[in-house]
Amino acid sequence: MSLPSPEECLHAVQTRDARFDGRFVYGVLSTTIFCRPSCPSRPARPEHLRWFDTPGAAINAGFRPCKRCRPEQTEQSDQILERLSRWLIEHADANPSLDDLAAMGPWSPTQLQKRFKAWLGISPKQLLDATRSEVFKAALKRGMRITDAIMEAGFGSSSRVYGEPLRHLGMSPKSWRSGAAGEQIFFASTDTALGRLMMAATETGVCFAEFGTDDAALLAKLRQEFPNATLRESPARESSELATWLQALSDHLEHDQPRPNVPLDLRGTALQIKVWRFLLGTEIGSRHSYSEVARAIGADKAHRAVASACAANRIAILVPCHRVLSASGSLAGYRWGLARKRALLAQEALAGPALAQATTTQQNVVSD
Ligand SMILES: [Zn+2]
Repeated sequence: MSLPSPEECLHAVQTRDARFDGRFVYGVLSTTIFCRPSCPSRPARPEHLRWFDTPGAAINAGFRPCKRCRPEQTEQSDQILERLSRWLIEHADANPSLDDLAAMGPWSPTQLQKRFKAWLGISPKQLLDATRSEVFKAALKRGMRITDAIMEAGFGSSSRVYGEPLRHLGMSPKSWRSGAAGEQIFFASTDTALGRLMMAATETGVCFAEFGTDDAALLAKLRQEFPNATLRESPARESSELATWLQALSDHLEHDQPRPNVPLDLRGTALQIKVWRFLLGTEIGSRHSYSEVARAIGADKAHRAVASACAANRIAILVPCHRVLSASGSLAGYRWGLARKRALLAQEALAGPALAQATTTQQNVVSD
């Protein structure tokens, strides 16, 4: 909605015309307070007044809402959320907290978190992560609304893009440290070209894919990673998705089929998630040093932490930590043994281009 003319605004303020509430607010330069047109406070001198089409615009210009007429309450919930999101994106480098964000709007941090997720499909924290996505940045540059740009970039709950690996960016440190209390995790295992493989998934996606000697050892590992979850063996009929993913991963190892693109449930510290997300974006057949990954995630000196993040990866192959080598090109370590790492690298070096192409084809077919 466009701002009425300055004359109309001034007249509305002088007559405290409530019909203009919601159409504009006015800021008072001498007090840096802003009001709705009908505010019962005595209006300041006309030369001290400034007009804004929304409360958000007044707040951005440095005015505070009047405690008497509560002009910020004329702002629609969606407008507030859009404004807060813009603010968050503009200040992403400073990594603002939920409290910082809540201070810019009318809600408590908890309320904000809830409304934000309902509106955008992701949390403010996840929006911060999304600001690093090139697709998202490009969409915003083209003038897209944030809700649309988020979908375009493949984030957000309503975007059911098949195989979008960044759809689930993990959970808050608090909930993963709780060991997945109250959650059900389904698991299944199979023999693959690289040995016995167990895969497990939450409602969100695959949270575990590990090699081991036998099912008992693998189950013990799964239990250790998610000590408070209810673990359930998954007959194919109960979690057919899991069975499909496990088969696809096995086919990938056995028959050079494309690496399956499945939803992931990444759980870790902020730095671990950054490292794993970086790995998800690496090309088949590519190789990266620990310090290269550290630079890429903006933590130049953290190559040791990167190495630990790779070692802590519990989703083999799908989060391709096997592509990270020491600076000299030696294999360095691998959670599931150097023989497996060597085999995976050799497979990718041989079949890289073909697999990359096949992956693209697969996605195109599904999105048609
Ligand atoms: Zn007022």
